[in-house]
Amino acid sequence: MSIRPIYLDCHATTPVDEQVLAAMIPYFTEHFGNPSSIGHVYGWEAEAAVKQSREILAAAINATPEEIVFTSGATEANNLAIKGVAEAYFSKGQHIITVATEHSAVLDPCTYLKSLGFDITILPVQPEGIIDLTEFKKAFRPETILVSVMAANNEIGVLQPLAEIGEMCRENNIIFHTDAAQAIGKIPLDVQAMKVDLMSLTAHKVYGPKGIGALYVRRRNPRVQIAAQQHGGGHERGMRSGTLYTPQIVGFGKAVEIALGTQETENQRLTELRQRLWEQLSQLSGVHLNGHPTQRLAGNLNISVEGVDGAALLLGLQPVMAVSSGSACSSTSTAPSHVLTALGHSEKLAYASVRFGIGRFNTAEEIDTVAQQVISTVQSLQSILKI
Ligand SMILES: *Cc1c(COP(=O)(O)O)cnc(C)c1O
Repeated sequence: MSIRPIYLDCHATTPVDEQVLAAMIPYFTEHFGNPSSIGHVYGWEAEAAVKQSREILAAAINATPEEIVFTSGATEANNLAIKGVAEAYFSKGQHIITVATEHSAVLDPCTYLKSLGFDITILPVQPEGIIDLTEFKKAFRPETILVSVMAANNEIGVLQPLAEIGEMCRENNIIFHTDAAQAIGKIPLDVQAMKVDLMSLTAHKVYGPKGIGALYVRRRNPRVQIAAQQHGGGHERGMRSGTLYTPQIVGFGKAVEIALGTQETENQRLTELRQRLWEQLSQLSGVHLNGHPTQRLAGNLNISVEGVDGAALLLGLQPVMAVSSGSACSSTSTAPSHVLTALGHSEKLAYASVRFGIGRFNTAEEIDTVAQQVISTVQSLQSILKI
C-alpha cells in the first residue's frame, strides 16, 4: 500500500466509522423497504429503523422525535430554515441577522433573500471570533424575524454563546436558528436550555455518511412555522418531501450515538493532541493562533504564519498531511478565507494559514510527525524570503 498523507481535515469530512457502516448495510439489501409503505413488513422494518434514529437525534439535542426533519445535509437544512422562515414570516417582517463568519450555506441563502428584497444584517466578530452581545442586541429591530448564528465554526472552531443568544432572541420574539454541523456529537447541545428554535445537523462531520442531515424545527413554546422548499409526497410532515434515505438515516443515528457515548473522554484526548501540536508550532517565529484559545472545538487548531507564501506552505505540507488552508472550504474559490479576514487579518496573512482538524483516528505520533513537517517547511520558506 502506498503511504498516504496523515488525515487532519476533520472539519471538511470524516471517515465513516466501521460500526456505523455495519449498521447501515442491511438497509441497502434485506431491509430495503420504503419507510412510507404502511401495508407490509418491508415498510415497517424501514420505518422502525428511521424512528429509532429520529429518537436518538432528538434525545441528543433534547428535542422530541416529531421535531426532527431529515434532509440531505446541513446545507439543505440551513436553506430550509432560512428561506422557510423568510417565506412563512414574510408578513411579520423582512429583517434577518447573521454573522460574518458563518458557513456559506448560511450566508448564501441570506444573500439570495437580499436579492428578493429582504434586509440582512451581517454582524462582525471580535478578534477571537466571538460575537459581541451588546452589538448583537443593537441589531434587533421590530421587523427582525430571524437570527442565524452557528454553534461551532468550521474553520477556527470557535463556539458562539448559544444560550445567551437564545435568551435575547426569545425575549424579543425572534426565531433563533443555529448551524450545528460542526457541533453535534462534539459539544453538549440542548435546544430547551439554549432556547434554539431551528438547528441544522449533518452526519458526515461526526463519522457518519455523507448526504444525510436534519433540521430541528421547534413545535411548542413557541411553535415555529417553515415553508417547505421541496414539494412532493408530503414526507416529514410536509416540510421536506422525498423518500427517506433509510441506510443513511440509520448511519446518522448510529454515528451520533457513538459520539455521545464517548464525547467527554474523546474531547479530553483531542484537547491533549491539539495542545501537543500547538506547543510545538508556537515555537515558530511569526505564528498566530486564529480563534479563541479555549472556547473552541477540541480538535481544531488554526494558525497563520507571517513571512511565508500560503500556496508554497500548503505545497510543502501536502506530501505529509491532508490539511486545509482557510480558503479550501468554498470548493473552488481562491479568495482568502472570509472567516480569517473577519478576524481582522490581512489577505496575505489569511492566505498563509493552516486549519488542522484532529479526529477520532489520529494519534500522538502523527501529531509529532505533522508538527515537524510544518516547522521545517515554515522555516525553509522564511529563510528563502530573508535572502
Ligand atoms: C460542513 C458544514 C456545512 C455543510 O454541511 P453538508 O452536510 O456538507 O451540506 C454547513 N455548515 C457548517 C458549519 C459545516 O461545517
